[in-house]
Amino acid sequence: MGESKGPLLSLRAVSVRYDGAVPALQPTMLDFHAGEFAVLLGPSGAGKSSLLRAVNGLAAASGEVIHAGIGELATSAAIRAARRRTGMVFQQHHLVRRQSALANVLQGRLGRYPAWRTLWPLPRRDRELALRCLERVGLFDKALARVDQLSGGEQQRVGIARALAQQPRLLLADEPVASLDPATSHRLMELLREIARTDSMLAIVSLHQVEIARRFGDRIIGLRAGRVVFDGRPEALDAGALALIYGEASQLPMLEQAAASPAPPPTLHDRLPQ
Ligand code: ADP
Repeated sequence: MGESKGPLLSLRAVSVRYDGAVPALQPTMLDFHAGEFAVLLGPSGAGKSSLLRAVNGLAAASGEVIHAGIGELATSAAIRAARRRTGMVFQQHHLVRRQSALANVLQGRLGRYPAWRTLWPLPRRDRELALRCLERVGLFDKALARVDQLSGGEQQRVGIARALAQQPRLLLADEPVASLDPATSHRLMELLREIARTDSMLAIVSLHQVEIARRFGDRIIGLRAGRVVFDGRPEALDAGALALIYGEASQLPMLEQAAASPAPPPTLHDRLPQ
């Protein structure tokens, strides 16, 4: 296909504006490559979700969002094709709580079929794939458990398995650990990173916790007020970069304290001026 060397995803002057006058995302240029584990870091309201939503056509964006092998997301066919190859993991899991883990993961296969086809049980190969995805996230033995009987961390792993069932090339995760305790958050990030590496996926994960971003990202994109203010390796995320992302340098001692403190962690954006 001739697409393997170039970026898997390119944003060209992409901006997102909702009803308000101030754009949620200012015109942004970014390239992402397969195998990259990129973290979008920034306080609440910085535009992380808007950027993720622009990537798979969930937010109306101006500029060009280009998926390798598909092209610009300018038609509904291109958006559908991009969504088929993109797994999404959300903070609130977005699972059907009264259904089994397996039934939820199978939803990840539905995008491959026309709507009428989903009135019948999906083929055996889809169910086998869904079970393998649950196995990868360590939940094979919970396949038939109802989601509302699982812990928060397990529910998020079901969310990851559902995304994997799409066999995505691109994994988008919007604050996937925001509602989890620190130990569970770390295990979950470990799992996401391991899966992304094994499958050579591009993963773009939004976070507001500096320490987790540093530990797991191999590229950090810092956002503030809808602008990319930092783009680099985690080692380069120094006090100056944090001040660009979070504001006043006087806040930085608090930031470091927050990053170093044991459970329960104060969330950084609770402590920082919005
Ligand atoms: P983050 O993910 O970093 O918290 P968002 O992308 O959610 O940031 O939000 C960026 C800005 O866009 C914020 O000012 C937010 O209030 C605004 N915003 C987000 N979603 C909507 C929406 N659906 N309608 C109007 N404004 C929105």
